[in-house]
Amino acid sequence: MEPQRSPLLEVRGNIQLKRPPVKAPSRLPLPGTRFKRGPDQMEDALEPEKKRTRGLDTVAKIATSRPRAPALTTVPQTQGQTTAPKVPKKTGPRCSTAVATALKNQKPGPAAPAQKPGAAAPVLGGRKPTKRPAWDLKGQLCDLNAELKCCRERTQTLDQENQQLQDQLREAQQQAKSLGAECRTLEGELARAQAQAEQGQQELGNLRARVLELEEQLGTQQGLVQELQKEQLGLQEERRGLAARLEEQERRLQASEAALSGSQAEVASLRQEATTQAALLVEQGERLHGLEMERRRLHNQLQELKGNIRVFCRVRPVLPGEPTPPPGFLLFPSGPGGPSDPPTRLSLSRSDERRGTLSGAPAPPTRHDFSFDRVFPPGSGQDEVFEEIAMLIQSALDGYPVCIFAYGQTGSGKTFTMEGGPGGDPQVEGLIPRALRHLFSVAQELGGQGWTYSFVASYVEIYNETVRDLLATGTRKGQGGECEIRRAGPGSEELTVTNARYVSVSCEKEVEALLHLAHQNRAVARTAQNERSSRSHSVFQLQISGEHAGRGLQCGAPLSLVDLAGSERLDPGLTLGPGERERLRETQAINSSLSTLGLVIMALSNKESHVPYRNSKLTYLLQNSLGGSAKMLMFVNISPLEENVSESLNSLRFASKVNQCVIGTAQANRK
Ligand code: ADP
Ligand code: MG
Repeated sequence: MEPQRSPLLEVRGNIQLKRPPVKAPSRLPLPGTRFKRGPDQMEDALEPEKKRTRGLDTVAKIATSRPRAPALTTVPQTQGQTTAPKVPKKTGPRCSTAVATALKNQKPGPAAPAQKPGAAAPVLGGRKPTKRPAWDLKGQLCDLNAELKCCRERTQTLDQENQQLQDQLREAQQQAKSLGAECRTLEGELARAQAQAEQGQQELGNLRARVLELEEQLGTQQGLVQELQKEQLGLQEERRGLAARLEEQERRLQASEAALSGSQAEVASLRQEATTQAALLVEQGERLHGLEMERRRLHNQLQELKGNIRVFCRVRPVLPGEPTPPPGFLLFPSGPGGPSDPPTRLSLSRSDERRGTLSGAPAPPTRHDFSFDRVFPPGSGQDEVFEEIAMLIQSALDGYPVCIFAYGQTGSGKTFTMEGGPGGDPQVEGLIPRALRHLFSVAQELGGQGWTYSFVASYVEIYNETVRDLLATGTRKGQGGECEIRRAGPGSEELTVTNARYVSVSCEKEVEALLHLAHQNRAVARTAQNERSSRSHSVFQLQISGEHAGRGLQCGAPLSLVDLAGSERLDPGLTLGPGERERLRETQAINSSLSTLGLVIMALSNKESHVPYRNSKLTYLLQNSLGGSAKMLMFVNISPLEENVSESLNSLRFASKVNQCVIGTAQANRK
């Protein structure tokens, strides 16, 4: 077990340790209770020792109560060499003996049992102490004095030493104090440093987070940079392409500039030329207009030479299911120019059973020859027929009234000729749609010369001397209502049909729609006993108005396309029932109007002062299309059948009369 150390020795030890490295505060013990307590306790500890040393009878006790005597031996070492040698001189052998005894007593253990004071004298300086005899009291007193003196010296030395130690202690305390202050300062600094460190840590954490964030951003930015680099590469590529194109464009531009300057010169010369051409154009326009007027005049002259009233004969083909006529029944002899000439003659054979020869044999068939402006045999197409009348239609645009009739018995092909065949087949389109298409087309051409045309259509039928609107719509559809033919205004030559629709048309589609409507209106009016369309006249009229605004010219004329009622007569042997009486009335009305038409034409050709237009609704309605400079064309439609020979002859005779009416001027040589 470690022996308990004296506080004084501890202080000394501390001082010894402390002294050399004053400036090593970290090694110093912290000021604590031990240190503080040290000096006081030391005083206390020293005090009894002083007392003991003063006493003469307590030497042995001192020796035994101080188990750490070896420490004392160290004191002289630290105090220097001066005190140690003095001790033996002043104390003498007895003093040395006492000290030696004390030293000896320090060693505990059974091997060295405690001796009685004085029983064994200490050996000093190698000399064996002499034991005084009991009687030598003087010598013993002397020894004791010497020992006392030695002790006093020792005490003095110890006091000095104590003083020194107290000084050292104070110094140490001061040092400790200053060190404590320094320590506190350092603690403060340490706390600050720790706070700073903590703050630093926090900042470090923040900075790490920031670094991470920045790294992330950096990653994104790097990605972006890569993308941008890629894009840049693309753009560079594009730029190169564009640069190449630019170069090419520049080259072209240069070439174009060169061409432009050439062109500018050319433009200048062309402008010059254009001015010349414009002047020429005006001149040409003038000439063209003059020529157009001349064309119109000549065209009219030609039409007049051809005859203001012309007659065309058309024989329809034999229809499926109809009996084939005997050979030679209808012949179409060729003209003086041979078969290449368009036919103008027709020969019809009629065998009259009532006539007989003297021998009783049947009389040979009688041949009836007719000659017209043109004859169309059964095989003639609609286009061929139209070709012949196209020039006449042109006259209507030039401002001449034109009227085209289809005359013949029922079933001879009048409606086919005027409106066309069934089914809307363009091949069998009739004169009305063809004429209108031709008009629209020519009007457009004339538009280039400054002419503008407008067309207004009307379509009526005249049945039993009553006029009915075929373009009626809504509630009036099929009913017709009462229509009257009136003058358009007081003193006006123009005629108009009251209650009838006048429809402005500008294209084929509109005309088609009108023809379809007229067809529907006729179908509604039809009854089982009475096929009314064949018993009435259908009159399609187109009012043509042309204007040349530049020259202030105007022209206008009606074009009338008339599908006449069947020209057949009633069988005189027919017994008259109520239906037949009605039929007779119809027939009389038809015959009357047709004969009036013939009379009007004759009066016109004979240039009679009175023309009986008013004798029938038909001639009254058509009076503006017949007189004056009007051109008239009559189609005589003939059935190819032998059974219709009588009606065919009647039609041909009527047509011949009409034809003869106009002969005598340009065509005097005609029959
Ligand atoms: P109309 O009007 O004189 O009574 P249609 O025009 O109705 O006679 O003709 C009677 C029939 O004969 C109709 O079926 C018609 O299609 C036919 N037809 C008339 N002319 C021709 C022709 N040139 N070619 C073919 N068929 C015709
Ligand atoms: Mg008809």
